[in-house]
Amino acid sequence: MQAVQTKLWLLGTGGTIAGQSAVEGDNVGYTAGTVPVEALLPKGANRLLESAGLEVVSRQLAQLDSKDMTYSVWFALAEAVCAACDDPAVRGVVITHGTDTIEETAFFLAEVCRPVKPVVLTCAMRPATAASPDGPQNLLDAMAVASDERAGGVVVVTAGAVHRASSVSKVHPYRIDAFSSGEQGPLAMVEEGRIRWLHQSGEAQPSASQGSTTSKELRGGDHHPSDALRLVSQLRTGGLPRVEWVVSRTGVGPREVEQWLVDSPSEPVRGLIVVGTGNGTFHQSLVEPLKRAEAAGVLVWRTTRCTQGPIVLGSSGVDWPRVTHLDPVKARIALALCIARADCSYSAV
Ligand code: ASP
Repeated sequence: MQAVQTKLWLLGTGGTIAGQSAVEGDNVGYTAGTVPVEALLPKGANRLLESAGLEVVSRQLAQLDSKDMTYSVWFALAEAVCAACDDPAVRGVVITHGTDTIEETAFFLAEVCRPVKPVVLTCAMRPATAASPDGPQNLLDAMAVASDERAGGVVVVTAGAVHRASSVSKVHPYRIDAFSSGEQGPLAMVEEGRIRWLHQSGEAQPSASQGSTTSKELRGGDHHPSDALRLVSQLRTGGLPRVEWVVSRTGVGPREVEQWLVDSPSEPVRGLIVVGTGNGTFHQSLVEPLKRAEAAGVLVWRTTRCTQGPIVLGSSGVDWPRVTHLDPVKARIALALCIARADCSYSAV
């Protein structure tokens, strides 16, 4: 018999949603990560919780500006998500986070935990002391998504839209609607507490791969929280493998790659993301040093500087180095995790 899910976990990490300004109504000059997460619960939360038969269990896992996000907070979040997935009484998890790196944390949790239950990250562009803060509505929307029976996997909820962890990016430094999923568009909209699904939650979508992953892969399926916990414990001990970027651009030279190949025994570079121009092309001066990097055991992946769509491979196209559909920020995390797992078959290329 299935256990009754009665709890919604609310995990606080800080961000502007928990920010305060000394000047009332100032939307830009404020300190992020100061209001405790339980104090963020918006008006209307009780009504939502009552109708869903849920109670909130809140925990402050960190209290920082997400520009300063650390791997140890990621690991603590991943462990909490695994614990929530393992607890039959938990319906889902809501995480409050800063906007600056929310897409990185969401992607890390999606790749490491692959939860079947909903794990909903939310944020705000204006501090809690703003004349018209966006945080309370975003948090209410995130709770509505986490309570929805059709929700699953890691998503980001902001400005009334539900975005997949693999496609969401912050695209504007100031405006309230600061996030986009590019060509894929949002997964759903939140309208007066109701979720209008535009696509099936947890549906197949290209992850880091050129091909597509299956719904089962994205939402957990045969992936057990204990696998994720083992990986997190390995990362806590050995660290996340170091992956750096090389951005192809006018005037770029071999040094851009060579700088990463100098011996740094404590933390050697294990992977490189080439952020190519256009359809994944890159400056000819990078070819030889990248080949030397590969010969030295560094894994090299290629993505594009273009923000609105993935690289398209033609039958006679350049097929080296390997292509990822992910943007540079997420490609770096995916490659690091592939190296850590010693397995690029899931979401690599
Ligand atoms: N710097 C803030 C943060 O990422 C920005 C925000 O949350 O909007 O924590």
